[in-house]
Amino acid sequence: MKIHEYQARDLLAAYNIPVPAGELITAADQATQAYKTIADSQESTLAVVKAQVFAGGRGKAGFVKLVNTPEEAHEAAKFMFSNKMVSAQTDADGLDVNKVLMAAGVDIADREPGKPDEYYLAITTDRNTRQNTLIASREGGVEIEQVAHDTPERIIKQPLHPILGLQPYQARDVAFALGFKGKQINQAVKIMLNLAKLYTDKDCSIAEINPLIVTPPTTAHPDGQVIAIDAKFNFDDNALFRHKDIAALFDPTEENPAEVRAEKMGLTYIALDGNIGCLVNGAGLAMATMDTIKLFDGEPANFLDVGGSATEEAVTEAFRIILSDKAVNGILVNIFGGIMRCDIIAQGIVNAAKEIGFSIPLVVRLEGTNVDAGRKILEQAAADLPTLQSASDLGDAAQKVVAAVG
Ligand code: GDP
Ligand code: MG
Repeated sequence: MKIHEYQARDLLAAYNIPVPAGELITAADQATQAYKTIADSQESTLAVVKAQVFAGGRGKAGFVKLVNTPEEAHEAAKFMFSNKMVSAQTDADGLDVNKVLMAAGVDIADREPGKPDEYYLAITTDRNTRQNTLIASREGGVEIEQVAHDTPERIIKQPLHPILGLQPYQARDVAFALGFKGKQINQAVKIMLNLAKLYTDKDCSIAEINPLIVTPPTTAHPDGQVIAIDAKFNFDDNALFRHKDIAALFDPTEENPAEVRAEKMGLTYIALDGNIGCLVNGAGLAMATMDTIKLFDGEPANFLDVGGSATEEAVTEAFRIILSDKAVNGILVNIFGGIMRCDIIAQGIVNAAKEIGFSIPLVVRLEGTNVDAGRKILEQAAADLPTLQSASDLGDAAQKVVAAVG
């Protein structure tokens, strides 16, 4: 599960990681007031207007804007609410912006003239070493993907001990390697240790701060202050049951609506770009089904796993979800009945046919538990299923559906 930056900032603050104050707005006409609240609470006039969407690359796309007056704040918010955000991390259509964060702006020290002092800091699971790993770089900011690609040696990694977590000596090593100086070192060490604790406490799958910045020196802070000004978190869905506080942060408006509906029914549905809707039981069979469709030059429109224990109702809903995708012009049902019974699937097909009707080609391959009962149900409902074709095996099914969609 993903959360927004403003929610991530609250989490960081709860773990004593310094973040600038912010106000969330949901319409452009709230921008002026939010700006004034921020500006009144600090000495500087600098604020930053930030679109809250589940994708990064906002800065480059014009959806992170530094402003110094209420008028500029309003203008920036108006732009964000009325345009879709398209960045390197979205598809070509981009994302609607429903929420905007008005955050206190911070001055960033110059590392050298024209180069802000920005760092990258994240914790995630390294799948190669199978360990939670702290990842850091002195080259943080909006070019981090480029840095990782072109100069991977500039990315530092420290594995977290599975029981003890990140050790202070490791955080100090990283702080030195990142080039922090004087009082910055302890601040950076604390941030790393707190981030590691947060990551483990909340069962994150990624906890990322980019950038972590250093403010210019002042009399009170001659070495500047180390502050997080952007954050991204993902959580392990399978652990959400033990984090009611995190689960409550779920924002359905930012998710694919069909995926949200499926989740409610206990179905695993992932929308894809093709035109062949797939209804399958078991993730492995779903993957094999998509591969086979591709082998015969078709394109799956979705991944839908009804699992082992779906009810007739859930199967009917699964068809509703598949058919709600306007790009779908053929459906392949591939069921290997083990725990899932073929008759339940067949009844789901018939219910969906009665309720919504299949005007598009429907290819069904049923095998396993109660297959005869399942086939019988389909035969008896033949009048409602004019586009139905039965298939003998997966290859046959894929070929038939690809041929049928043309
Ligand atoms: P992203 O592009 O989606 O990762 O959004 P960020 O919040 O990371 O902002 C992008 C860039 O805008 C940062 O790397 C900073 O260089 C700049 N930026 C963001 N907030 C501030 C701020 O408060 N003050 C200054 N000076 N720059 C900021
Ligand atoms: Mg960022």
